[in-house]
Amino acid sequence: MDIHLYNSKSHLLEVFKPKEDKSVGMYTCGPTVYSYVTIGNWRTYTLADFAYRALVLQGYSVKYIMNITDVGHLTGDNAGDADTGTDRLENASKKENKTVWDIATYYTNDFMRGYDLMHLSRPNQFVKATDHIAEQIALIEKLEKNGLTYQITDGIYFDTVAYEALGYTYGELSNLDHIHEGARVEYNSEKKNNRDFALWKFNNADEKRQMEWDSPWGVGFPGWHIECSAMAMKYLGEQFDLHIGGEDLKSTHHPNEIAQSQGATGCAPFVTTWMHGAFLMVDGGRMGKSMGNAYTIDDIIAKGYSPMALRYFYLTGHYRTQINFTWAALDAANNALQKLFAFVDSVSVTGDVKLNEGIIDSVYQDKMLTRINDDLDMPGVLAVVWELIKDTKIEPVNKKATLLWIDAVLGLGLAEDRTITVPHEVAVLVEQREDARTNKDFAGSDALRAQIQTLGYEVLDTKDGPKVKKL
Ligand code: AMP
Ligand code: ZN
Repeated sequence: MDIHLYNSKSHLLEVFKPKEDKSVGMYTCGPTVYSYVTIGNWRTYTLADFAYRALVLQGYSVKYIMNITDVGHLTGDNAGDADTGTDRLENASKKENKTVWDIATYYTNDFMRGYDLMHLSRPNQFVKATDHIAEQIALIEKLEKNGLTYQITDGIYFDTVAYEALGYTYGELSNLDHIHEGARVEYNSEKKNNRDFALWKFNNADEKRQMEWDSPWGVGFPGWHIECSAMAMKYLGEQFDLHIGGEDLKSTHHPNEIAQSQGATGCAPFVTTWMHGAFLMVDGGRMGKSMGNAYTIDDIIAKGYSPMALRYFYLTGHYRTQINFTWAALDAANNALQKLFAFVDSVSVTGDVKLNEGIIDSVYQDKMLTRINDDLDMPGVLAVVWELIKDTKIEPVNKKATLLWIDAVLGLGLAEDRTITVPHEVAVLVEQREDARTNKDFAGSDALRAQIQTLGYEVLDTKDGPKVKKL
C-alpha cells in the first residue's frame, strides 16, 4: 500500500518514495538542552515516532538520527531575529550557577528519561552539536570555497543571494516575507541581506564564553543551523528521505539547512520529504515559561496521569492541526485510554498468542493501514480501533490480536502487564472475594469488591482469574 505524506516542500500530499526501495533515512530536529522539554516539544517528537513506527510496521528499514542542540541556539532565533541575542545554554548556566556542560548533561539526561516515558522509539543515534564541531567547520569551509560566505564583525555568514545565483530558490518551505515580519528588529545592518544567517559567530571580546572553539576564522562557536546540515549529512548522506520538525522550523531553520547543504554539495534536493507538526496550544493560547503553562511530563505525572494519557491525547489530533491542551482534554483522553486498557485486559488468551498466527483481523488491519497511510491520520486510526472493539462479529481474542498489532504504531504499551503488586490486605480481600464467587455468594463478593475499591484497587475478572489494578 502506498504511503501518502504531506510534503511541506511541494505543499502537496505525495506518495512517499525513498531513494532506495525500502530503506529510509530520517532526521528529526531534537531539543535544545537548556531547560525541561515541554508537552509542546513532546508532541513533535511523538509525531516523528508515529512516522518512524508506521514505516517500520510496513517493512521499511529506517535509519533514524536525532540531534541534541547543546550550543549555538540564540534567544533571538525563534523570535524571528535569527543570529541575535544570547546563547540559551550560557544563559541557563548563569541562572542556575552551573557550568554550561553541566546544564547540557542535566537537561539531556532529563530528555532521555522523558523520551522513554513517552515510549518514543530510540533513533539509531542521538548526535550532539558539540561532538561535531569539526564537521561543522569543514562544511563552512566548503561553503566558503563555493563562494557562499562572507565575513562581518560578528561572524561568518551565509550569502543567500550568491546561493540563488547558482540557480537555487532559497526558502521553498515558507513564504520568505514572513521571516522578519513582526520580529523585534534587532537587525544586523552589516548583513548583505535580511535572510543571510550566521554560520560561525565570533566570541565577543567583553564576554568570556564557556563553550568556544578555534576555527580558520577565529575563536567562536557555530551558528544554530549548521549543526543539523553537518550531522544529517554525516550520518544519512548528502541526500536523504525524510526530515521532521515543528512548524516553527519552516520559516528559517529548515530553509537554512537546505541552503547550506545544497550549497555545499551541489546536490539537490537535500531532503525529499519535509514533515512539519502543528503546535500544541495550552488553554487556547501559546505555551510559554513566562505564562506558567509550559507543562512538562512531570507536571502530567504529578496530576496523577500516566505519560500514556498524554500520548493518547496526541493521537486524537491530526499532526497538521493545532491541538489545544487543557486538563479536561487530558482527562478525557485518559478515560478513553483506561477503557482501551480494560478491554485488552478483559480478554484472556490461552497460551502465547503469536501475532503471525492469523488471528489479526485482515479487514480491520487494512482499514487501520489505510488511515495511517493517509498522511498519518492517527485520529482516524483511533476511530477504527473503537469501531473494532464495538464490532460484535469479531471474536474478542482476534480483536485483541489486532489491537496489539496496531499498537506497534500507537505505542501505548497495550501488551504491558498492568497488574501490580498489591498490599497484603488487598490480596487477602481479593482471595476472600474469589471464595465468595466460587460459592455463588454474589452479595458477599460485591461487598468485598466495594471494600477493595475503598483501598484504591479494582478487581477485574478474567479467564485467568482475578486481576487487580490501582484505581
Ligand atoms: P526547541 O527545543 O525550541 O528547538 O524545539 C524542539 C522541537 O519542538 C522543534 O521541532 C520545535 O518546532 C518543537 N516545538 C516547540 N514548541 C512546540 C509546541 N508548542 N508544539 C509543538 N512543537 C513544538
Ligand atoms: Zn535542525
